[in-house]
Amino acid sequence: MSGHDASLHRAARPVRRQPHAVVIGSGFGGLAAAIRLGARGYRVTVLERLEQSGGRARVHRQDGFTFDAGPTIVTAPHLFAELWALCGRDMAADVDLRPIDPFYRIRFHDGSTIDCSGDPARMRAEVDRLAPGDGPGYERFLAHAEAMFRVGFEKLGDVPFDRAADMARVLPELVRLGGWRSVHALVSSYIKDERLRIALGFHPLFIGGNPFTATAVLVLVSALERRWGVHFAMGGTGRLVSGLVGLIERQGGRIRHGAEVDRILVENGRACGVRLAGGETIPADIVVSNADAAATYRQLLPAAARRRWTDRKVGRMRQSMSLFVWYFGTDRTYPEVPHHTILLGPRYRDLLAEIFGARALPADFSLYLHRPTATDPSLAPPGCDAFYVLAPVANLDAPIDWTRAAEPYRQAIAAELERTVLPGLGAALVTSRVTTPLDFAADFLAEKGAAFGPEPVLTQCAWFRPHNRSEDVDGLYLVGAGTHPGAGLPGVLSSARILDRVVPHADALVR
Ligand SMILES: Cc1cc2nc3c(=O)[nH]c(=O)nc-3n(C[C@H](O)[C@H](O)[C@H](O)COP(=O)(O)OP(=O)(O)OC[C@H]3O[C@@H](n4cnc5c(N)ncnc54)[C@H](O)[C@@H]3O)c2cc1C
Repeated sequence: MSGHDASLHRAARPVRRQPHAVVIGSGFGGLAAAIRLGARGYRVTVLERLEQSGGRARVHRQDGFTFDAGPTIVTAPHLFAELWALCGRDMAADVDLRPIDPFYRIRFHDGSTIDCSGDPARMRAEVDRLAPGDGPGYERFLAHAEAMFRVGFEKLGDVPFDRAADMARVLPELVRLGGWRSVHALVSSYIKDERLRIALGFHPLFIGGNPFTATAVLVLVSALERRWGVHFAMGGTGRLVSGLVGLIERQGGRIRHGAEVDRILVENGRACGVRLAGGETIPADIVVSNADAAATYRQLLPAAARRRWTDRKVGRMRQSMSLFVWYFGTDRTYPEVPHHTILLGPRYRDLLAEIFGARALPADFSLYLHRPTATDPSLAPPGCDAFYVLAPVANLDAPIDWTRAAEPYRQAIAAELERTVLPGLGAALVTSRVTTPLDFAADFLAEKGAAFGPEPVLTQCAWFRPHNRSEDVDGLYLVGAGTHPGAGLPGVLSSARILDRVVPHADALVR
Protein backbone atom coordinates (compact mmCIF):
# COMPACT_ATOMS: atom_id res chain seq x y z
CA MET A 1 0.00 0.00 0.00
CA SER A 2 1.42 3.44 -0.88
CA GLY A 3 1.88 6.09 1.84
CA HIS A 4 -1.07 8.01 0.36
CA ASP A 5 -3.35 4.99 0.61
CA ALA A 6 -2.24 4.34 4.18
CA SER A 7 -3.28 7.84 5.29
CA LEU A 8 -6.68 7.35 3.64
CA HIS A 9 -7.03 4.10 5.50
CA ARG A 10 -6.26 5.85 8.82
CA ALA A 11 -8.71 8.65 8.09
CA ALA A 12 -11.47 6.15 7.44
CA ARG A 13 -11.14 4.58 10.90
CA PRO A 14 -13.61 6.03 13.46
CA VAL A 15 -11.80 8.36 15.90
CA ARG A 16 -12.52 7.49 19.51
CA ARG A 17 -13.22 10.61 21.50
CA GLN A 18 -11.13 10.86 24.66
CA PRO A 19 -13.05 12.58 27.47
CA HIS A 20 -11.41 15.79 28.65
CA ALA A 21 -10.82 16.61 32.32
CA VAL A 22 -9.88 20.12 33.35
CA VAL A 23 -8.10 20.52 36.70
CA ILE A 24 -8.09 24.03 38.17
CA GLY A 25 -4.89 24.55 40.15
CA SER A 26 -1.60 22.67 40.44
CA GLY A 27 -1.22 22.23 44.19
CA PHE A 28 -0.41 18.71 45.33
CA GLY A 29 -4.13 17.89 45.27
CA GLY A 30 -4.49 19.08 41.68
CA LEU A 31 -1.35 17.33 40.45
CA ALA A 32 -2.36 14.05 42.11
CA ALA A 33 -5.87 14.39 40.67
CA ALA A 34 -4.46 14.96 37.17
CA ILE A 35 -2.38 11.78 37.40
CA ARG A 36 -5.29 9.71 38.64
CA LEU A 37 -7.57 11.03 35.91
CA GLY A 38 -4.89 10.42 33.27
CA ALA A 39 -4.63 6.84 34.53
CA ARG A 40 -8.41 6.53 34.21
CA GLY A 41 -8.38 7.38 30.54
CA TYR A 42 -8.96 11.15 30.53
CA ARG A 43 -7.12 13.70 28.46
CA VAL A 44 -6.08 16.12 31.19
CA THR A 45 -5.42 19.86 31.19
CA VAL A 46 -4.24 21.53 34.40
CA LEU A 47 -4.84 25.28 34.55
CA GLU A 48 -2.66 27.19 37.01
CA ARG A 49 -2.86 30.95 37.51
CA LEU A 50 0.73 31.24 38.81
CA GLU A 51 3.86 30.85 36.71
CA GLN A 52 4.97 27.69 38.49
CA SER A 53 3.35 24.49 39.73
CA GLY A 54 3.00 23.37 43.33
CA GLY A 55 0.71 25.96 44.91
CA ARG A 56 1.71 26.34 48.52
CA ALA A 57 4.61 23.99 47.71
CA ARG A 58 6.15 26.29 45.11
CA VAL A 59 9.84 27.12 45.31
CA HIS A 60 11.56 30.47 45.81
CA ARG A 61 15.08 30.67 44.40
CA GLN A 62 17.20 33.69 45.25
CA ASP A 63 20.87 34.56 45.70
CA GLY A 64 21.93 30.95 45.27
CA PHE A 65 19.50 29.64 47.92
CA THR A 66 16.55 27.30 47.30
CA PHE A 67 13.58 27.81 49.60
CA ASP A 68 10.61 25.46 49.60
CA ALA A 69 7.79 27.90 50.22
CA GLY A 70 5.55 25.53 52.16
CA PRO A 71 5.49 21.85 53.09
CA THR A 72 8.75 20.37 54.33
CA ILE A 73 7.58 17.48 56.50
CA VAL A 74 6.69 14.61 54.21
CA THR A 75 4.67 11.90 55.93
CA ALA A 76 2.88 8.88 54.38
CA PRO A 77 5.33 8.73 51.43
CA HIS A 78 3.47 5.71 50.02
CA LEU A 79 0.72 8.11 48.90
CA PHE A 80 3.28 9.68 46.56
CA ALA A 81 4.76 6.33 45.52
CA GLU A 82 1.26 5.19 44.54
CA LEU A 83 1.09 7.99 41.94
CA TRP A 84 4.35 6.85 40.37
CA ALA A 85 3.12 3.25 40.41
CA LEU A 86 -0.09 4.31 38.60
CA CYS A 87 2.17 5.50 35.78
CA GLY A 88 4.22 2.30 35.83
CA ARG A 89 7.26 4.04 37.30
CA ASP A 90 9.33 3.88 40.46
CA MET A 91 9.34 7.04 42.55
CA ALA A 92 12.91 6.37 43.67
CA ALA A 93 14.08 6.90 40.08
CA ASP A 94 12.90 10.54 40.24
CA VAL A 95 12.89 11.55 43.91
CA ASP A 96 15.33 10.71 46.68
CA LEU A 97 13.28 10.71 49.90
CA ARG A 98 15.33 10.54 53.10
CA PRO A 99 14.00 9.73 56.57
CA ILE A 100 14.63 12.50 59.11
CA ASP A 101 15.75 11.50 62.59
CA PRO A 102 14.81 12.95 65.00
CA PHE A 103 11.53 14.06 63.42
CA TYR A 104 11.89 17.40 65.19
CA ARG A 105 13.22 19.05 68.32
CA ILE A 106 10.78 20.97 70.47
CA ARG A 107 12.33 23.74 72.54
CA PHE A 108 10.20 25.10 75.35
CA HIS A 109 10.42 28.66 76.56
CA ASP A 110 12.33 27.58 79.68
CA GLY A 111 15.09 26.19 77.42
CA SER A 112 14.23 22.51 77.98
CA THR A 113 13.91 20.37 74.87
CA ILE A 114 12.51 17.07 73.67
CA ASP A 115 13.62 15.26 70.52
CA CYS A 116 10.66 13.46 68.96
CA SER A 117 11.41 10.40 66.89
CA GLY A 118 9.82 7.21 65.62
CA ASP A 119 12.10 5.00 67.70
CA PRO A 120 9.90 3.72 70.58
CA ALA A 121 12.77 3.18 73.04
CA ARG A 122 14.41 6.55 72.41
CA MET A 123 11.08 8.32 72.49
CA ARG A 124 10.15 6.69 75.79
CA ALA A 125 13.55 7.70 77.22
CA GLU A 126 12.88 11.31 76.13
CA VAL A 127 9.45 11.23 77.78
CA ASP A 128 10.93 9.83 81.02
CA ARG A 129 13.65 12.49 80.99
CA LEU A 130 11.26 15.41 80.39
CA ALA A 131 8.30 14.21 82.41
CA PRO A 132 9.17 11.46 84.90
CA GLY A 133 5.97 9.67 85.90
CA ASP A 134 4.15 10.29 82.60
CA GLY A 135 5.63 7.19 80.91
CA PRO A 136 2.69 4.80 81.48
CA GLY A 137 0.18 7.50 80.43
CA TYR A 138 2.30 8.11 77.35
CA GLU A 139 2.08 4.44 76.36
CA ARG A 140 -1.71 4.50 76.80
CA PHE A 141 -1.92 7.69 74.73
CA LEU A 142 0.03 6.01 71.91
CA ALA A 143 -2.49 3.15 71.88
CA HIS A 144 -5.37 5.64 71.73
CA ALA A 145 -3.74 7.61 68.91
CA GLU A 146 -3.17 4.37 67.03
CA ALA A 147 -6.86 3.43 67.38
CA MET A 148 -7.83 6.89 66.12
CA PHE A 149 -5.44 6.45 63.19
CA ARG A 150 -7.07 3.15 62.23
CA VAL A 151 -10.51 4.74 62.13
CA GLY A 152 -9.71 8.27 60.98
CA PHE A 153 -7.05 7.52 58.38
CA GLU A 154 -7.28 3.89 57.35
CA LYS A 155 -11.07 3.59 57.39
CA LEU A 156 -12.20 7.12 56.61
CA GLY A 157 -9.34 8.92 54.91
CA ASP A 158 -10.42 8.00 51.40
CA VAL A 159 -14.17 7.65 51.88
CA PRO A 160 -16.03 10.33 49.90
CA PHE A 161 -18.39 11.31 52.80
CA ASP A 162 -20.96 12.79 50.49
CA ARG A 163 -23.95 11.10 52.13
CA ALA A 164 -25.12 11.88 55.64
CA ALA A 165 -25.40 8.09 56.08
CA ASP A 166 -21.60 7.78 55.75
CA MET A 167 -21.25 10.14 58.68
CA ALA A 168 -23.92 8.35 60.72
CA ARG A 169 -22.15 5.04 60.13
CA VAL A 170 -18.83 6.20 61.62
CA LEU A 171 -20.13 8.50 64.31
CA PRO A 172 -20.48 5.85 67.06
CA GLU A 173 -16.86 4.79 66.63
CA LEU A 174 -15.61 8.37 66.63
CA VAL A 175 -17.67 9.15 69.73
CA ARG A 176 -16.32 6.03 71.46
CA LEU A 177 -12.76 7.23 70.74
CA GLY A 178 -13.55 10.72 72.00
CA GLY A 179 -13.58 12.48 68.62
CA TRP A 180 -15.87 15.15 70.13
CA ARG A 181 -13.09 16.24 72.48
CA SER A 182 -10.22 18.50 71.53
CA VAL A 183 -6.74 17.14 70.85
CA HIS A 184 -5.38 18.90 73.91
CA ALA A 185 -8.14 17.53 76.13
CA LEU A 186 -7.51 13.99 74.94
CA VAL A 187 -3.74 14.25 75.45
CA SER A 188 -4.26 15.83 78.88
CA SER A 189 -6.40 12.88 79.97
CA TYR A 190 -3.24 10.76 79.78
CA ILE A 191 -0.40 13.23 80.47
CA LYS A 192 0.23 15.53 83.45
CA ASP A 193 3.30 17.50 82.36
CA GLU A 194 2.18 20.62 80.49
CA ARG A 195 5.24 20.56 78.19
CA LEU A 196 4.64 16.95 77.21
CA ARG A 197 0.96 17.73 76.60
CA ILE A 198 2.10 20.33 74.09
CA ALA A 199 4.67 18.02 72.49
CA LEU A 200 2.16 15.24 71.96
CA GLY A 201 -0.73 17.45 70.94
CA PHE A 202 0.49 20.36 68.81
CA HIS A 203 0.03 18.51 65.50
CA PRO A 204 -3.27 20.19 64.48
CA LEU A 205 -1.20 23.35 64.00
CA PHE A 206 0.49 21.61 61.04
CA ILE A 207 -2.87 21.54 59.26
CA GLY A 208 -4.56 24.72 60.40
CA GLY A 209 -6.16 23.61 63.66
CA ASN A 210 -5.99 24.90 67.20
CA PRO A 211 -5.12 21.95 69.50
CA PHE A 212 -7.64 23.34 72.01
CA THR A 213 -10.57 23.18 69.57
CA ALA A 214 -9.51 20.77 66.80
CA THR A 215 -11.24 17.41 66.91
CA ALA A 216 -9.27 14.75 68.79
CA VAL A 217 -9.44 12.67 65.61
CA LEU A 218 -6.34 14.64 64.61
CA VAL A 219 -4.16 12.81 67.12
CA LEU A 220 -3.94 10.41 64.19
CA VAL A 221 -1.32 12.75 62.68
CA SER A 222 1.21 11.78 65.36
CA ALA A 223 0.40 8.09 64.82
CA LEU A 224 0.90 8.56 61.10
CA GLU A 225 4.37 10.00 61.73
CA ARG A 226 5.30 7.05 63.90
CA ARG A 227 3.94 4.54 61.38
CA TRP A 228 5.68 5.85 58.25
CA GLY A 229 8.27 8.32 59.51
CA VAL A 230 9.06 11.92 58.57
CA HIS A 231 10.87 12.38 55.27
CA PHE A 232 12.55 15.05 53.21
CA ALA A 233 12.99 15.09 49.45
CA MET A 234 16.61 15.75 48.51
CA GLY A 235 16.67 18.94 46.47
CA GLY A 236 13.60 20.08 48.40
CA THR A 237 9.87 19.41 48.31
CA GLY A 238 9.95 21.08 44.90
CA ARG A 239 11.42 17.81 43.60
CA LEU A 240 8.16 16.07 44.45
CA VAL A 241 6.30 18.77 42.53
CA SER A 242 8.52 18.50 39.47
CA GLY A 243 8.34 14.70 39.69
CA LEU A 244 4.52 14.78 39.57
CA VAL A 245 4.58 17.31 36.73
CA GLY A 246 6.86 14.91 34.83
CA LEU A 247 4.37 12.07 35.35
CA ILE A 248 1.51 14.19 33.99
CA GLU A 249 3.51 15.17 30.93
CA ARG A 250 4.51 11.57 30.26
CA GLN A 251 0.84 10.61 30.42
CA GLY A 252 0.19 13.17 27.68
CA GLY A 253 -1.45 15.68 30.03
CA ARG A 254 -0.80 19.40 29.78
CA ILE A 255 -0.14 22.06 32.41
CA ARG A 256 -0.80 25.67 31.46
CA HIS A 257 0.66 28.36 33.71
CA GLY A 258 -0.60 31.93 33.85
CA ALA A 259 -4.08 30.49 33.23
CA GLU A 260 -6.54 31.79 35.80
CA VAL A 261 -10.03 30.30 35.73
CA ASP A 262 -12.69 32.88 36.47
CA ARG A 263 -15.78 30.77 35.79
CA ILE A 264 -16.77 27.13 35.85
CA LEU A 265 -19.27 26.78 33.02
CA VAL A 266 -22.50 24.97 33.89
CA GLU A 267 -25.16 23.70 31.52
CA ASN A 268 -28.30 21.98 32.75
CA GLY A 269 -26.76 21.56 36.20
CA ARG A 270 -23.59 19.97 34.83
CA ALA A 271 -20.06 21.37 34.59
CA CYS A 272 -19.13 21.58 30.92
CA GLY A 273 -15.93 23.61 30.93
CA VAL A 274 -14.22 26.70 32.27
CA ARG A 275 -13.61 30.27 31.22
CA LEU A 276 -10.21 31.86 31.74
CA ALA A 277 -9.74 35.40 32.99
CA GLY A 278 -8.72 36.43 29.47
CA GLY A 279 -12.05 35.21 28.07
CA GLU A 280 -10.92 31.91 26.50
CA THR A 281 -13.34 29.05 27.14
CA ILE A 282 -12.19 25.46 27.48
CA PRO A 283 -14.79 22.71 27.16
CA ALA A 284 -14.53 19.72 29.49
CA ASP A 285 -16.41 16.54 30.33
CA ILE A 286 -15.52 16.92 33.99
CA VAL A 287 -13.96 19.72 36.03
CA VAL A 288 -11.86 19.17 39.16
CA SER A 289 -11.18 22.21 41.29
CA ASN A 290 -8.04 22.38 43.40
CA ALA A 291 -8.68 26.08 43.95
CA ASP A 292 -9.68 27.20 47.44
CA ALA A 293 -13.02 25.49 48.18
CA ALA A 294 -14.66 28.75 49.30
CA ALA A 295 -13.51 30.49 46.11
CA THR A 296 -14.60 27.56 43.96
CA TYR A 297 -18.16 28.01 45.14
CA ARG A 298 -18.37 31.74 45.70
CA GLN A 299 -16.17 33.10 42.90
CA LEU A 300 -16.14 30.46 40.19
CA LEU A 301 -19.77 29.31 40.16
CA PRO A 302 -22.81 31.52 39.57
CA ALA A 303 -25.13 31.76 42.58
CA ALA A 304 -27.94 30.26 40.51
CA ALA A 305 -25.97 27.00 40.20
CA ARG A 306 -25.64 26.58 43.98
CA ARG A 307 -28.29 25.28 46.32
CA ARG A 308 -26.10 24.02 49.18
CA TRP A 309 -23.00 26.19 49.04
CA THR A 310 -24.71 29.54 49.01
CA ASP A 311 -22.65 32.70 49.58
CA ARG A 312 -24.01 32.79 53.13
CA LYS A 313 -23.00 29.21 53.92
CA VAL A 314 -19.54 29.70 52.42
CA GLY A 315 -19.14 32.92 54.37
CA ARG A 316 -20.05 31.17 57.62
CA MET A 317 -17.27 28.58 57.31
CA ARG A 318 -14.54 29.19 59.88
CA GLN A 319 -11.28 29.59 58.02
CA SER A 320 -8.01 28.35 59.52
CA MET A 321 -5.30 30.64 60.78
CA SER A 322 -2.69 32.02 58.44
CA LEU A 323 1.09 32.06 58.60
CA PHE A 324 3.89 34.58 58.60
CA VAL A 325 6.90 32.99 56.88
CA TRP A 326 10.40 34.41 56.76
CA TYR A 327 12.83 32.74 54.33
CA PHE A 328 16.45 33.62 54.94
CA GLY A 329 20.00 32.53 54.26
CA THR A 330 23.16 32.90 56.31
CA ASP A 331 26.79 33.02 55.23
CA ARG A 332 27.69 30.55 57.96
CA THR A 333 26.25 27.24 59.08
CA TYR A 334 24.58 26.21 62.33
CA PRO A 335 25.39 22.49 62.55
CA GLU A 336 23.88 22.17 66.02
CA VAL A 337 20.41 23.11 64.71
CA PRO A 338 18.45 20.06 63.51
CA HIS A 339 16.37 19.94 60.32
CA HIS A 340 13.08 20.74 62.11
CA THR A 341 12.81 22.75 65.34
CA ILE A 342 9.71 24.01 67.11
CA LEU A 343 10.37 26.93 69.43
CA LEU A 344 7.60 27.64 71.90
CA GLY A 345 7.02 31.08 73.30
CA PRO A 346 6.06 32.04 76.85
CA ARG A 347 2.32 31.48 76.24
CA TYR A 348 0.56 28.63 74.46
CA ARG A 349 -3.21 28.41 75.08
CA ASP A 350 -3.73 32.18 75.30
CA LEU A 351 -1.52 32.86 72.29
CA LEU A 352 -3.51 30.37 70.21
CA ALA A 353 -6.78 31.87 71.44
CA GLU A 354 -5.63 35.27 70.16
CA ILE A 355 -4.50 33.84 66.82
CA PHE A 356 -7.62 31.75 66.19
CA GLY A 357 -9.83 34.48 67.62
CA ALA A 358 -8.41 36.81 64.95
CA ARG A 359 -7.41 39.47 67.42
CA ALA A 360 -4.59 42.04 67.17
CA LEU A 361 -1.05 40.80 66.50
CA PRO A 362 0.42 39.46 69.77
CA ALA A 363 3.92 40.56 70.76
CA ASP A 364 4.97 36.95 71.48
CA PHE A 365 4.99 33.96 69.14
CA SER A 366 5.70 30.27 68.75
CA LEU A 367 7.85 29.29 65.79
CA TYR A 368 8.71 26.42 63.50
CA LEU A 369 12.27 26.66 62.17
CA HIS A 370 13.26 24.76 59.03
CA ARG A 371 16.92 24.15 58.24
CA PRO A 372 16.87 21.99 55.10
CA THR A 373 20.64 22.32 54.68
CA ALA A 374 20.92 20.03 57.71
CA THR A 375 19.95 17.24 55.28
CA ASP A 376 20.80 18.69 51.87
CA PRO A 377 23.61 21.29 51.82
CA SER A 378 23.06 21.83 48.07
CA LEU A 379 20.09 24.09 48.92
CA ALA A 380 22.51 26.90 49.83
CA PRO A 381 25.90 28.06 48.53
CA PRO A 382 28.92 26.31 50.12
CA GLY A 383 29.43 27.24 53.78
CA CYS A 384 25.91 28.73 54.03
CA ASP A 385 22.62 27.65 55.58
CA ALA A 386 19.09 28.05 54.17
CA PHE A 387 16.22 28.51 56.61
CA TYR A 388 12.64 29.40 56.91
CA VAL A 389 10.84 30.23 60.08
CA LEU A 390 7.09 30.41 60.35
CA ALA A 391 4.75 31.78 62.95
CA PRO A 392 1.05 30.92 63.03
CA VAL A 393 -0.85 34.22 62.86
CA ALA A 394 -4.48 35.25 62.58
CA ASN A 395 -6.13 35.21 59.17
CA LEU A 396 -7.28 38.43 57.51
CA ASP A 397 -10.32 38.71 59.80
CA ALA A 398 -7.90 40.24 62.32
CA PRO A 399 -7.32 43.99 62.45
CA ILE A 400 -3.66 43.71 61.40
CA ASP A 401 -2.16 45.88 58.66
CA TRP A 402 0.53 43.56 57.34
CA THR A 403 1.97 46.20 55.05
CA ARG A 404 3.16 47.94 58.24
CA ALA A 405 3.39 45.04 60.68
CA ALA A 406 5.52 42.65 58.64
CA GLU A 407 8.98 44.19 59.06
CA PRO A 408 8.80 44.84 62.84
CA TYR A 409 7.39 41.32 63.28
CA ARG A 410 10.24 39.84 61.22
CA GLN A 411 12.76 41.76 63.31
CA ALA A 412 11.22 40.51 66.56
CA ILE A 413 11.41 36.92 65.27
CA ALA A 414 15.02 37.43 64.16
CA ALA A 415 15.93 38.76 67.61
CA GLU A 416 14.29 35.75 69.29
CA LEU A 417 16.14 33.32 67.00
CA GLU A 418 19.41 35.14 67.65
CA ARG A 419 18.79 34.94 71.41
CA THR A 420 17.92 31.24 71.37
CA VAL A 421 19.22 28.98 68.61
CA LEU A 422 20.93 31.14 65.96
CA PRO A 423 23.57 33.31 67.70
CA GLY A 424 25.08 35.94 65.42
CA LEU A 425 22.13 35.73 63.02
CA GLY A 426 21.93 39.46 62.29
CA ALA A 427 25.54 39.63 61.10
CA ALA A 428 25.27 36.39 59.10
CA LEU A 429 22.12 37.25 57.09
CA VAL A 430 22.69 37.35 53.34
CA THR A 431 19.24 36.92 51.82
CA SER A 432 15.67 37.38 53.04
CA ARG A 433 12.02 37.40 51.93
CA VAL A 434 8.71 37.21 53.78
CA THR A 435 5.21 35.92 53.12
CA THR A 436 2.23 37.32 55.04
CA PRO A 437 -1.48 36.47 55.07
CA LEU A 438 -1.89 39.09 52.33
CA ASP A 439 0.24 36.90 50.05
CA PHE A 440 -1.88 33.80 50.74
CA ALA A 441 -4.91 35.79 49.64
CA ALA A 442 -3.24 37.40 46.61
CA ASP A 443 -1.29 34.39 45.32
CA PHE A 444 -3.59 31.45 46.04
CA LEU A 445 -6.90 33.35 46.17
CA ALA A 446 -7.28 31.92 49.68
CA GLU A 447 -10.38 33.05 51.56
CA LYS A 448 -9.24 35.40 54.35
CA GLY A 449 -5.63 34.56 53.55
CA ALA A 450 -6.03 31.27 55.44
CA ALA A 451 -3.04 28.97 55.06
CA PHE A 452 -4.97 25.69 55.35
CA GLY A 453 -8.57 26.21 54.17
CA PRO A 454 -11.48 25.73 56.60
CA GLU A 455 -10.40 25.09 60.19
CA PRO A 456 -10.46 21.36 61.12
CA VAL A 457 -13.07 21.44 63.88
CA LEU A 458 -15.56 18.56 64.12
CA THR A 459 -18.36 20.60 62.57
CA GLN A 460 -16.20 21.26 59.49
CA CYS A 461 -14.87 17.74 58.95
CA ALA A 462 -15.91 14.80 56.77
CA TRP A 463 -19.56 15.20 55.72
CA PHE A 464 -19.59 18.79 56.97
CA ARG A 465 -16.65 19.82 54.78
CA PRO A 466 -17.16 20.74 51.10
CA HIS A 467 -17.51 17.34 49.44
CA ASN A 468 -15.11 15.87 46.91
CA ARG A 469 -18.07 15.36 44.58
CA SER A 470 -19.90 18.66 44.40
CA GLU A 471 -23.42 18.51 45.79
CA ASP A 472 -24.40 21.47 43.62
CA VAL A 473 -23.05 20.76 40.17
CA ASP A 474 -22.77 17.39 38.40
CA GLY A 475 -19.40 16.63 36.87
CA LEU A 476 -17.63 18.97 39.32
CA TYR A 477 -15.20 17.56 41.86
CA LEU A 478 -13.09 19.18 44.56
CA VAL A 479 -9.63 18.22 45.78
CA GLY A 480 -7.15 19.92 48.10
CA ALA A 481 -6.99 21.32 51.59
CA GLY A 482 -10.48 22.84 51.58
CA THR A 483 -12.27 19.58 50.96
CA HIS A 484 -12.34 16.18 52.71
CA PRO A 485 -10.18 14.98 54.43
CA GLY A 486 -8.30 18.28 54.78
CA ALA A 487 -4.96 20.07 54.69
CA GLY A 488 -1.46 18.61 54.77
CA LEU A 489 0.17 16.40 52.18
CA PRO A 490 -1.48 13.13 53.27
CA GLY A 491 -4.84 14.94 53.35
CA VAL A 492 -4.68 16.51 49.91
CA LEU A 493 -3.25 13.36 48.30
CA SER A 494 -6.10 11.39 49.88
CA SER A 495 -8.63 13.87 48.50
CA ALA A 496 -7.35 13.06 45.01
CA ARG A 497 -7.45 9.35 45.80
CA ILE A 498 -11.17 9.71 46.53
CA LEU A 499 -11.68 10.71 42.90
CA ASP A 500 -11.09 7.07 41.97
CA ARG A 501 -14.27 6.30 43.88
CA VAL A 502 -16.51 9.10 42.64
CA VAL A 503 -15.36 9.98 39.11
CA PRO A 504 -16.55 7.62 36.37
CA HIS A 505 -13.84 5.96 34.29
CA ALA A 506 -13.35 7.85 31.02
CA ASP A 507 -14.63 4.81 29.10
CA ALA A 508 -18.01 5.18 30.79
CA LEU A 509 -18.39 8.64 29.24
CA VAL A 510 -17.82 7.52 25.63
CA ARG A 511 -19.89 4.37 25.65
C1 LIG B 1 4.14 27.44 54.96
C2 LIG B 1 3.42 26.11 54.94
C3 LIG B 1 4.05 24.99 55.46
C4 LIG B 1 3.42 23.75 55.41
N1 LIG B 1 4.09 22.66 55.88
C5 LIG B 1 3.56 21.43 55.71
C6 LIG B 1 4.31 20.28 55.99
O1 LIG B 1 5.47 20.37 56.42
N2 LIG B 1 3.76 19.05 55.77
C7 LIG B 1 2.49 18.93 55.27
O2 LIG B 1 2.03 17.78 55.08
N3 LIG B 1 1.74 20.02 54.97
C8 LIG B 1 2.25 21.26 55.16
N4 LIG B 1 1.53 22.36 54.81
C9 LIG B 1 0.18 22.18 54.27
C10 LIG B 1 0.23 21.79 52.81
O3 LIG B 1 1.29 22.46 52.18
C11 LIG B 1 -1.04 22.17 52.08
O4 LIG B 1 -2.18 21.70 52.80
C12 LIG B 1 -1.08 21.60 50.67
O5 LIG B 1 0.14 21.79 49.99
C13 LIG B 1 -2.21 22.26 49.91
O6 LIG B 1 -2.36 21.63 48.68
P1 LIG B 1 -3.65 21.89 47.79
O7 LIG B 1 -3.83 20.69 46.92
O8 LIG B 1 -4.80 22.27 48.65
O9 LIG B 1 -3.27 23.05 46.81
P2 LIG B 1 -2.62 24.50 46.99
O10 LIG B 1 -1.21 24.34 47.37
O11 LIG B 1 -3.50 25.36 47.80
O12 LIG B 1 -2.64 24.97 45.48
C14 LIG B 1 -3.80 25.41 44.84
C15 LIG B 1 -3.37 25.97 43.49
O13 LIG B 1 -4.53 26.43 42.77
C16 LIG B 1 -4.20 27.62 42.10
N5 LIG B 1 -5.43 28.35 41.84
C17 LIG B 1 -6.29 28.86 42.77
N6 LIG B 1 -7.34 29.45 42.17
C18 LIG B 1 -7.13 29.30 40.83
C19 LIG B 1 -7.87 29.70 39.68
N7 LIG B 1 -9.04 30.36 39.79
N8 LIG B 1 -7.39 29.39 38.46
C20 LIG B 1 -6.21 28.71 38.32
N9 LIG B 1 -5.47 28.32 39.39
C21 LIG B 1 -5.94 28.61 40.62
C22 LIG B 1 -3.28 28.34 43.07
O14 LIG B 1 -2.49 29.30 42.39
C23 LIG B 1 -2.45 27.19 43.61
O15 LIG B 1 -1.30 26.96 42.83
C24 LIG B 1 2.13 23.62 54.86
C25 LIG B 1 1.48 24.76 54.35
C26 LIG B 1 2.12 25.98 54.39
C27 LIG B 1 1.41 27.17 53.81
